[in-house]
This record gives sequence, structure tokens and C-alpha cells, in this order.
Amino acid sequence: MGNRYLIPPLPAPHSSLYMNYKIAVIPGDGIGREVTVQAVEVLKAVGEKFGHSFEMTEVDAGGCAIDKYGEALPQATLEVCKQSDSVLLGAVGGPKWDTLPGNQRPEQALLGLRKGLGLFANLRPAVLHRALKDASPLKPEIIGDGLDIMVVRELTGGIYFGARETKGNEAYDTMRYSEEEVERIARTAFEIAGKRNKKLLSVDKANILDTSRLWRSVVDKLAREYPEVEVDHMYVDNAAMQLVRNPKQFDVIVTGNMFGDILSDEASMITGSIGMLPSASLGTGKIGMYEPVHGSAPDIAGQDKANPLATIVSAAMMLRYSFGLAAEADAVEEAVGKVLDKGCRTGDIMSEGMKLVGTKEMGALVIQAL
Ligand code: NAD
Repeated sequence: MGNRYLIPPLPAPHSSLYMNYKIAVIPGDGIGREVTVQAVEVLKAVGEKFGHSFEMTEVDAGGCAIDKYGEALPQATLEVCKQSDSVLLGAVGGPKWDTLPGNQRPEQALLGLRKGLGLFANLRPAVLHRALKDASPLKPEIIGDGLDIMVVRELTGGIYFGARETKGNEAYDTMRYSEEEVERIARTAFEIAGKRNKKLLSVDKANILDTSRLWRSVVDKLAREYPEVEVDHMYVDNAAMQLVRNPKQFDVIVTGNMFGDILSDEASMITGSIGMLPSASLGTGKIGMYEPVHGSAPDIAGQDKANPLATIVSAAMMLRYSFGLAAEADAVEEAVGKVLDKGCRTGDIMSEGMKLVGTKEMGALVIQAL
């Protein structure tokens, strides 16, 4: 396995800045295959414009890997990912594999990649572009001129990973966090807040839960290392309510696994379209996994209807968070904004008077705008 599309190194305008980055590309299943192609083309265009070389290796995971190799995450795929500077993933799964037992399903590939690459922080930006204000279910006066919230969710601890059991007519789950687990996710969030508007909100349920009281004390202790970042705390029930009452008050939110799961879905829904939402999963090193929030959308797969922007913006996150290429990431995000401002829309974000485009055309328009 391993399709290699190497972009030849270009004469760099500033040779001291010239870099070569290795990216493992996992198209996966359904529209995953269509949207990753567009993101790869955008990365190539960024490489040409800014004089970087992105060495991309395509590998299999998910349903297609089950068909070819009998498992969702072949060892060879994980090895290529481990040897890369970052991973770009489309989506996995589909009706063909829905009858398999839970531990053999395509989605196991995601868990295996997170674990295998040590990715404990999940970043879910909920950005509502000016041009898409109408797509939000919230009233225009609540949205104002757009939204830009970043939810930083702990990904490998908490109640989803604690001991659980069902005994007769009783069941329990356990929520557990260590100081080290809280500190590393909080540090990631402080670093991100420091690069944005220097505001961090930690969300917990410290009026009830011991794990939340530990969480809060670790965040407060760490805050001394980041005096430039203003830190606040909020209970999760209030945060869920405030997100729809006044979402503009939020900037960076850091929270545990389960609360983050729920709040990041809520925050993304207020932006209106699943086809627009990127995500990143990070560990302690530079390697990260970047993927759209949506799934493989079997209902529109193979029809050139999928919105590739979530994957393209995920690639921009890779440039920013794994490679430290902020100007390049800005350029991609601005190009996406320009295409939307021009009125070009895929079906999922289509509205009256706009121009309907397909997956390929949307990708080409972003490259043109770059
Ligand atoms: P989905 O996100 O695939 O689709 C939900 C709806 O949103 C569909 O109507 C789809 O057409 C639409 N949609 C999604 N992405 C779109 C895009 N980029 N452009 C336009 N429309 C888009 O969720 P689902 O239907 O619940 O799941 C389908 C399959 O994907 C399942 O097998 C599921 O397990 C898998 N899944 C995978 C991931 C992942 O790989 N990270 C995430 C969620 C679901």
C-alpha cells in the first residue's frame, strides 16, 4: 500500500524558511475519498505559493481497509502515520459495514489512530462565516457578524474510559482524571488561547463532581504560568445554555471528554452546516490528525455533491498547529471566505440567489482564490 504523490521541491523564495513535511493521507470511505482529494490539491497549491514541499502518502483505513486487509486499521497504515509529520483523514464507515460487531467496525480505525498516535486533545472550531449567517438556527441579532469559538476537548480520559459494568438491573460508569491528564489538556488550551484573544473558559461541574474540583484546581494552578491569558470557569449546564443565549461571549473553551463531546456538537450546530466544520486531534508532539467533523455521507457519495470545505479548513489547521505555518493557514482560510463571499455554495449550504457548485469546482475555486 502507499500511493506517493511527491511534489518536487521548488526553489524557495526564502531558503531558510524552506521545509519538507510528510503527510499521511487517509481518504477512507464514501465522500471521504472525494473531499480529501480537494484538500490535497489545496495543500499542493500552498506548497507552490509559499515554497514548501508536502510529501503525501496515501494509506487505507476504515471500511476500504476491512475489504482489502480484513481490519479497519492495518499495522502498515499506523506505521506510515507514525512516521509522518501529520495525518489528514476524510471519513470512515458506511452501510456496507454496519452489520459488523462493534469492535470490528470501520470506526475502530479512529480510536486506534488516536491511541496509536497519543492524541489526547480534540480541537473543534465552530466558525460561522459572515456569508453563511442565514445557515445558523439562531436569530441574526444573536449571531451578529459571525462566530468563532474553539472547543478544546480532552479525548482519552474521563467517563468514556473509566471502569463500567452492568449487573442485573444496575449499571455504573466511572469518571476519573489525574492531575497530569488535566494539566496536559489545559496546557494545550492555554497555548491556543494565547495565540487567539487570550481568553480561556474552563467548563466543569465542580459544584457536584470531585473530578471537576480537581480539574478546576489544576487549571487555576497552571494559569500562573500564563498571566497574559484571562481564565474563567463555568458549570457545564450553564455553558450549554449560554451557548445558545449569547454565543459571542465565548472564545476558547476547555473541558473534559463527555462535556466536550456534548458542547462541541452544540457549538457546531449553531454554525449551521456540518460540511463546514473541521477538527484536529493533537498529542504532546507536533503530530496531529486533521479531519472534517462529518462522516462518510453515503447518501451523496460519488455524486460530486459533498462540501470539501471542512476538509480544506482541516488542512489549514494542520498548517497552523502541526507545522507552525500561520500565514499559510490564514491564506487558506481567507481563500475559503472569498469563495463564500462570491456566493458559491455546495448543496448543503445552498440558499436562494447563490451559485450551486460541486465538490471539484469548490476545491478549484479555493485554489483560484489562493
Ligand atoms: P454524516 O456526517 O456522514 O451525514 C449526515 C448528513 O450530513 C447526511 O445527510 C450527509 O449527506 C450530510 N453531509 C455530511 N457531510 C457532508 C458534506 N461534506 N457535504 C454535504 N453534506 C454532508 O453522518 P451519518 O449519516 O450519521 O454517518 C454516515 C457514516 O459515516 C456512518 O457509517 C458513520 O458511522 C460514519 N461516520 C464517520 C465519522 C468519521 O469518520 N469521523 C464521523 C461520523 C460518522
